[in-house]
Amino acid sequence: QVPLKPGRSLMDWIRLTKSGKDLTGLKGRLIEVTEDELSKHNKKEDCWICIRGFVYNVTPYMEYHPGGEDELMKAAGADGTDLFDQVHRWVNYESMLKECLVGRMAVKPVAALKGLFTCSHKILGLVNNWNEVYFLKCSPNFVSFLPCVSGIFWHVTESYDWFQTDSLITVVIYTKQKDMNADLVIVDCQDKQLRGEIIMDDHSYLVNIDLDHAVSEDVAVNIAEKVGKVEIILNKKDNVHWKMLGQPCEGHNTFIKRTDRGLFYRKCKLVSKTEVTHDTKLFCLMLPKGTHLRVPTGQHVYLKHIIAGTEVVKPYTPVLPFLPLDFQEPPCHDGVHIYLMIKIYSHGLFTQALDHLQIGDYISVSNPEGSFKKSQVQTSEDLLLLAGGTGFTPMVKLLNFALTEVSCLRTVKLIFFNKTENDILWRNQLEQLALKDERFEVQFILSQPSKDWVGKQGKISSSLLSEFVKRSRRDSKVLICICGPVPFTEQGVQYLKDLGYSQEEIHAFTA
Ligand code: FAD
Ligand code: NAP
Repeated sequence: QVPLKPGRSLMDWIRLTKSGKDLTGLKGRLIEVTEDELSKHNKKEDCWICIRGFVYNVTPYMEYHPGGEDELMKAAGADGTDLFDQVHRWVNYESMLKECLVGRMAVKPVAALKGLFTCSHKILGLVNNWNEVYFLKCSPNFVSFLPCVSGIFWHVTESYDWFQTDSLITVVIYTKQKDMNADLVIVDCQDKQLRGEIIMDDHSYLVNIDLDHAVSEDVAVNIAEKVGKVEIILNKKDNVHWKMLGQPCEGHNTFIKRTDRGLFYRKCKLVSKTEVTHDTKLFCLMLPKGTHLRVPTGQHVYLKHIIAGTEVVKPYTPVLPFLPLDFQEPPCHDGVHIYLMIKIYSHGLFTQALDHLQIGDYISVSNPEGSFKKSQVQTSEDLLLLAGGTGFTPMVKLLNFALTEVSCLRTVKLIFFNKTENDILWRNQLEQLALKDERFEVQFILSQPSKDWVGKQGKISSSLLSEFVKRSRRDSKVLICICGPVPFTEQGVQYLKDLGYSQEEIHAFTA
């Protein structure tokens, strides 16, 4: 992220797009753009970019781009789809850049082949890119999905099947993955639409069907972890015999990279909003009845909301409703609620809109994302957490997981950087937790303390880190997690490396 000039905020951009100004220079005409034509528009003052076959004139957007002009210029006059997917897959560019749309790329004869083509009535071929060719073999009740890399070798990955009783429909997905668990299965069933996504490392398998008959909102998910079998159990609304499961919808029965799959959102109801500090609130959202979704430790979701007619998307990291103070109780994953601890910025576009939501209002919540893996903690003996402001949010589930489920951990230390005492999130709970669990220690460091503050003060620095970040034994296995404002995180990682910690020992939470 780069600092934007005054008058160049997202809200200013939305205003400009609504002003009726001709942002493409084409007076509302849409054209077919050849590669030659696209490549000519490669300067800051005349910049076109192609994203997923659509060409945008991003010249007027340059100064509004949060990532800076140089970042946008990397795709000037070219196809920016990959660049865009790497950095801002979650940004709804269709909505954000709709007034900048120049037209579609002209289809070359060879490119036409990149779509879906039918080989016979039983075998469909789908060319995703030139290195990976997928074939779908279909029979009435059984569909298997066979990736064929460069046409040379084949191996079966996932498949699904379904069966019925008088009252139930069971969809069975055979993932053939041993460590399958509830965090990896996301199911949404609403209005005859069934969407089941199974996460397998950086790929996902999707079942997406317009069901033949209505089902009730109750959905159950059973997982046979050892064999990797996932059952999605639906309740028929009427006790009729189904002749077929339904019609396939977009992406049905595909196994593709997660980054190639669009983010799926469902509407969640705001059920409570409670104060955490003077500017931070705990929002509790309720998932729809037909949704099975758990946000894994260390991952975030995207919230989507329409602000002044434009879809705006921002990431947030779910927390727990409170810290694990009572270890007799199981970790609170009720599977129905998502808790978000959100700082409301007085000039913040999205957080102001969130703050104005009323109890009972709805907001769209995406599937989880993030690169953190629980296994990173499972083998650690010392866990060190460096948090700046709301960078504390990923640490909440991490603390819970570490203290309740990781037996080899000897020490867990949170070093929490804030401006003032009033900004410290869940201070009371953290202090109680430190009293209760002798493995846990918390250190508050303030950058703008009042004169009464007797604790540590300062900003993240090499000397502060060398004072607080230590292994409990000379050879202990350590994991250091860091999250906060981008420069805080970047500087912190550098200081840690300078102190001799390896890349594998550091996890930085970023978008
Ligand atoms: P904007 O309209 O973008 O900014 C308006 C003004 O607010 C800015 O000029 C600046 O003064 C201030 N401001 C905005 N964003 C920031 C910022 N990031 N840091 C410092 N000042 C800022 N936030 C949470 O509160 N809770 C979370 O759990 C959380 N999780 C996140 C997870 C990820 C992976 C990432 C990348 C960010 C997360 N954030 C979280 C930040 C969140 O996504 C938004 O950036 C934030 O809510 C501000 O949005 P806004 O539209 O209100 O502010
Ligand atoms: P804040 O209150 O502004 O800052 C928290 C502490 O960090 C303060 O002590 C502050 O000191 C210090 N700090 C701020 N900028 C710094 C910098 N450039 N260098 C060194 N120290 C710095 O923080 P916030 O408003 O809560 O923002 C939290 C940030 O965390 C947001 O940017 C949010 O996007 C990010 N976040 C990321 C994730 C994720 O998973 N990636 C999750 C949650 C939050 P001074 O300001 O006094 O210098």
